Amino acid sequence: MNRLLFAFLMLVAAVFSAAMAPEYSIQAIRYGNSPGFPANELVIGAPKDEKVDIAFVVWLIRGGGHNILFDSGFHREKWTKYFPVTDFLRPDEAVKLAGVKPEDVTDVVISHAHWDHLGGIDLFPKATVWIQKEEFRYYTGEAWQPGGKHGGIDPDDVLQLVKLNTEGRLRLVDGDDVEILPGIRVYTGARHTFASQYIRVEGNPSFVLASDNCYLYRNLAERKASATFSEVDQSANITNQARMIELAGSADRVVPGHDMLQFQKFPTQGRIAKIK
Ligand SMILES: [Zn+2]
Repeated sequence: MNRLLFAFLMLVAAVFSAAMAPEYSIQAIRYGNSPGFPANELVIGAPKDEKVDIAFVVWLIRGGGHNILFDSGFHREKWTKYFPVTDFLRPDEAVKLAGVKPEDVTDVVISHAHWDHLGGIDLFPKATVWIQKEEFRYYTGEAWQPGGKHGGIDPDDVLQLVKLNTEGRLRLVDGDDVEILPGIRVYTGARHTFASQYIRVEGNPSFVLASDNCYLYRNLAERKASATFSEVDQSANITNQARMIELAGSADRVVPGHDMLQFQKFPTQGRIAKIK
């Protein structure tokens, strides 16, 4: 094939795949709050006594016949007992407020395996669940071996993940910069957990949903790390926050995981902010 024809075909393919990706809507749905959280656990280096109120959020992305949730929240009582949560509404009930029935959620993309993000996967009975292959491998294996780390991981969620896999409902994403659905791309490297991921919703304009790879807008503004898998990962986290800004085209279009401000920055009714 001559080179010009090849270039032309590549161009046609690129235009075609861009045309295939729908223009998604994005909503942040707040299903609970945690008042008075220590700031230095969110922004590394923040003053020791400072406290901030944070939100528990799932993000609903709709388009092209898909109702995609980014993260699934949590609902088990052991966590609401252990952790001060106010204004709690079970994530499936919260998603209903946006007009989507739990059984109509087609996909749940899990940013990382912590209880407040993975603990709601059993609430959406027909969804395909997407998680990084390395995250799955680590938290179903090594994490529980001597020397492994499983802080913030609920053993019941691990069992649920394995069950979903045996039922054919789990998709293991292999690494960085992977388009998992038309116009939905996932990225690794921020190291909140062993293999945490964040997503870019492509469109006009594009948005990056960071989840806990960036807790607050303040992390972006002050270029300070969120909590990471290990201390040596903090610089990777800061590097990836800069990458998120680049991928979104603006810091205003990077949406942090637990920041209440997303419900002020974007038009909000009740628990739901319309990001796009
Ligand atoms: Zn979290």
